[in-house]
Amino acid sequence: MLSAAKSSRVHKIQKDGMTDLIRSIAAEKHETGQPFYVLDLATIERLMDKWNHSFPNVKPFYAVKCNSEPALLTKLANLGANFDCASLLEIDTVLNLGISPDQIIFANPCKAISHIKYAATVGVNLTTFDSKLEVDKIKQWHPQCHLLLRIKAPSDSGSLRPLGKKFGVLPEEIEPLLHYACYVAGLKVVGVSFHVGSIAQDPNIYREAIANARAVFDVSDYLGIPKMQILNIGGGFRSTPLFEEIAGVVNEAVQDYFPEPYLTIIAEPGRFFPETVFTLVTHVIGKRVRGEKIEYWIDDGIYGSFRPTLYNSCFVGIIPLSLKASEESSQMCESTIYGPSCDSLDAVAIDIKLLELQLDDLIVFYNMGAYSKCAGTKFNGFDMLSTPIYLASTNSS
Ligand SMILES: *Cc1c(COP(=O)(O)O)cnc(C)c1O
Repeated sequence: MLSAAKSSRVHKIQKDGMTDLIRSIAAEKHETGQPFYVLDLATIERLMDKWNHSFPNVKPFYAVKCNSEPALLTKLANLGANFDCASLLEIDTVLNLGISPDQIIFANPCKAISHIKYAATVGVNLTTFDSKLEVDKIKQWHPQCHLLLRIKAPSDSGSLRPLGKKFGVLPEEIEPLLHYACYVAGLKVVGVSFHVGSIAQDPNIYREAIANARAVFDVSDYLGIPKMQILNIGGGFRSTPLFEEIAGVVNEAVQDYFPEPYLTIIAEPGRFFPETVFTLVTHVIGKRVRGEKIEYWIDDGIYGSFRPTLYNSCFVGIIPLSLKASEESSQMCESTIYGPSCDSLDAVAIDIKLLELQLDDLIVFYNMGAYSKCAGTKFNGFDMLSTPIYLASTNSS
């Protein structure tokens, strides 16, 4: 067992006990102005079971950027996860949990030299690349490092957050770049990686990407490079029924395209683990009634957990919660929810139907674990970097 990141009490509750737990934390520990999270550790276990059941042959490297909360990372580490880090600080964070450097992939195709040097110092020896200059930097500063060639996912379409032009070699660049990396620079290219974009909608994108990866293995054989060993299928997964379908397509495509018995298959799930296990609790700090419409101000916003380019509002469940259950309103009103800053763009939800709330009541956001807290700032003097987290463990039965 790795040591817990912070010695925080874990509240053991039934699955339907979340509302009571939230009310009691709000009443006992919190003043308005300070939002907080509740993290359900037991659901992380259930998600890891789900992963292992659907992907028995695919090792998960959790993508730390999605949510780097220490209690989440510790739990995942204890469940046997490996980690995808994109920067010096992410590597440092994961190593400090007691994770071994060979459980880390430095999955950023373009790295600053100082970060490459740090990886070399601490023994993180697997990274991705998609350009000649990256090969030169790695040759000079970390020549022991094993490389995966990052290819573009097919058309990058079909995902809600495509990775667009930024990452991956073009088909015509594959052969010259492999030749350069292996024969000019003398580095070890041991496999291929891709990322179909966050929130994949079409399972067949994975099949196409795996077929493209096969073509790279074939080019490498043709060039006489030592046999590639690693297929990295990236991220894009969510914990929904589509997950099983995607796993079925991936497992079949791997069988069809990769007869190599020695192949290691890895993935970099981000959203899959944290999305559903974090619940954000905010307070109503202001209210204005204009005719039929109500506007609320809460203590989190787009400079905190709700960065519009990152989190996905359509997956978030919004539940108004009166502090006292007996005072629950039954009046549904057209409502807008603003964040606390003086930026007029700082709105969390516009014209949604909500039961009427009063000052100090709570607005609870479910499924808030992916790309939320990690993007927090201190803009306008609202410290969204240190939103506290309370630990829960829900019993599923
Ligand atoms: C962001 C990212 C991930 C995680 O993506 P999800 O869509 O959250 O699963 C995995 N790999 C790389 C290289 C990434 O940049």
